[in-house]
Amino acid sequence: MVHVYEDIHLVKDSYVNVYLIVRGADVVLIDAGLESTWSLIKDYLNTLGLTFKDLTAVVITHHHRDHVGSLKYVVQNSNAVVAAHVDEIELIKSRSGVNVNVALRDGDMFKGLKVVHTPGHTPGHICLLDLKTKSLFVGDLVVEENGELNEIPHHYSIDPMKNREAIKKLRYVDFNNLMPSHGEPLLHVGKEKLEELITKLV
Ligand SMILES: [Zn+2]
Ligand SMILES: [Zn+2]
Repeated sequence: MVHVYEDIHLVKDSYVNVYLIVRGADVVLIDAGLESTWSLIKDYLNTLGLTFKDLTAVVITHHHRDHVGSLKYVVQNSNAVVAAHVDEIELIKSRSGVNVNVALRDGDMFKGLKVVHTPGHTPGHICLLDLKTKSLFVGDLVVEENGELNEIPHHYSIDPMKNREAIKKLRYVDFNNLMPSHGEPLLHVGKEKLEELITKLV
């Protein structure tokens, strides 16, 4: 429920974050939080003079419950298209009952966001790089705790070693701000903190 950076906003629902990018006519939601998150998103949109009808897209980083909890409600109350990685589409449908309209692949551009496929936590997990603000939305790839980044605990991932490889791949992505789904955004020092984590990983 705060303005984070330029045109990026954070809506926090207990332990999970969703982000809103409000840019001209485009209002893009990144992830859909828990079942309870829709009302927080609605209230926040209202403070900006917007409603669900103004949402143009929802991009889902992966199918876990705390990322698609409000997806059905949001889709039913908006005309937003839903985008996700091609390997995550069936999982999202079976978890949320929602059809994904746009199948994303590594390197694709969607609404100013560059797709970085980072499998491991789930098969079609993605990070999204906002080229305009050099902000990287990392989903559950890493979590922030007390200003530091950590791997998401291994038991949450289907393939933790693959997730680790995906973290290392982000070394080659040009970003400054790191926007996690769990923990606080790391503004300006995102890349630096990620490099610190990588040096600790074998
Ligand atoms: Zn997850
Ligand atoms: Zn999560």
